[in-house]
Amino acid sequence: MFRKVLIANRGEIACRIAATLREMGIAPVMVYSAADRGALHTRAGSEAIPIGPAEARASYLDIEAVLGAARRAGAEAIHPGYGFLAESPDFAAAVEAAGLTFIGPTPEQIRTLGDKRAARSLAARAGVPVVPGAEGGDSKALAAQARKLGYPVIVKAALGGGGKGMRIVADEPSLIEAAESASRLALTAFGDASVYVEKRLERPRHVEVQVLGDGNGGAIHLLERECSLQRRHQKVIEESPAPGLDEALRSRLAQAAVDLARAARYRGAGTVEFLVAGDGAFHFLEVNTRLQVEHPVTEVVTGVDLVRAQLQIAAERRLPFDQSAVKGQGHAIEARIYAEDPSRGFLPQAGEAAKVRWPRGPFLRVDAGVESGNQVPVHYDPILAKLIAGGETRKAALARLVAGLDAALVHGVVTNLPFLRALARAREVERASFDTEWIEREFLAGFTALATAPAPDLALAAVSIFEAEKTPGAGSRGPAADPTGVPRDGSGAFRAPGRWRLPGLE
Ligand code: ADP
Repeated sequence: MFRKVLIANRGEIACRIAATLREMGIAPVMVYSAADRGALHTRAGSEAIPIGPAEARASYLDIEAVLGAARRAGAEAIHPGYGFLAESPDFAAAVEAAGLTFIGPTPEQIRTLGDKRAARSLAARAGVPVVPGAEGGDSKALAAQARKLGYPVIVKAALGGGGKGMRIVADEPSLIEAAESASRLALTAFGDASVYVEKRLERPRHVEVQVLGDGNGGAIHLLERECSLQRRHQKVIEESPAPGLDEALRSRLAQAAVDLARAARYRGAGTVEFLVAGDGAFHFLEVNTRLQVEHPVTEVVTGVDLVRAQLQIAAERRLPFDQSAVKGQGHAIEARIYAEDPSRGFLPQAGEAAKVRWPRGPFLRVDAGVESGNQVPVHYDPILAKLIAGGETRKAALARLVAGLDAALVHGVVTNLPFLRALARAREVERASFDTEWIEREFLAGFTALATAPAPDLALAAVSIFEAEKTPGAGSRGPAADPTGVPRDGSGAFRAPGRWRLPGLE
């Protein structure tokens, strides 16, 4: 096993990876940009090395800077986390060329699976059903392909991720424009302008399977996660197991994911994503060649530490256990807490998180990258923390999540906590009757109306202001309730009175 591993990341995921390294007796080497001096993750390891200015491009995304830090610290391996360089085949190759171990798949696997079209071909060859779609080409070719598929279609960037570069198109006149704008965006964001069209499935569910591969054609799965609660094609709340999935379908999905991982001779931890239609038909969507943001729900139900498994595979080139050792127990559900303002179109927020209080409780895990007094920089993804609640049943886990969200407090920076509290309480979430479009189609309108409506209860508004003002460190910059009476600090809205109901939720 390695003695020293560099974590090429920041925030909650860097802290989470460091925790497993320390537990395994491995020294975690942290890196930080100028914007992250004093950040929680810089204190999570046994040393921390500055790698450049605040701009990600010149620090966390700078391959030479990261490799330089690894050399300086004498690290033997690099864990990329998610985001930044995690899915860069060039980075994985550079790490190996420097004689270090990249904790993840091979550069070739990252390259192939990171190209959605190449991944689709691989899936199809492995006998896995893929979303009907086509190979791309110029806008004329796309139009011909879309006509065959039938509208609506989705235009996608071949190298896309994070919901970027994806456009739903209802008819041919819109296609050309959508293809061109998606292509421009793809070139800027992913360095490649290729786009293609895929049939847009109606009201699907997003179900994904966690896999581990040994790199020699051996692969196992660690059950599935349901990630349909999305906004702008990005996940908000995730859970495992997927509720309401019949056993036959559950095992077919897992088998399809394992077939694909074996066909790719996949190495390390990965996620095979599917869209599942109402009638149970499922289609391959894409593979993510890294640890996912939502990996903790799998850890809670399987009892497997996925970071430890990644390290074991990287060091020993074999699977640490076999399929028969994987058993799911109970239920886990996660909510992503972001510095973003739900009452202003989820605009990312930055500033000093003057006071932070994460909840504690039985079967409640908090993966956080921020504590009181930390800066939330403008330069990076605004994720602050994840709340992961477990329980014997889905109902118990969800109740713990709701209570945990209520008890969480962030002052100084606006967060999406009010949105998460309302969402976790929604009847559709309780009944698990949602699809990938439900938040935007039905939930958001009612939520936004309330978030911008006049105060429904002046007493409540007064309480919120009082609570905000008595917070230490909450000066003029600090939290304030705006004239609508809805606190902008993410501390109290949608929490207190039972009679305060969200339209469309009851
Ligand atoms: P990204 O790599 O940008 O995350 P994905 O291809 O994984 O993009 O898709 C993200 C989300 O977009 C899916 O979970 C789903 O909600 C939606 N989506 C993608 N493709 C389709 C499709 N063909 N039909 C309907 N929804 C889709």
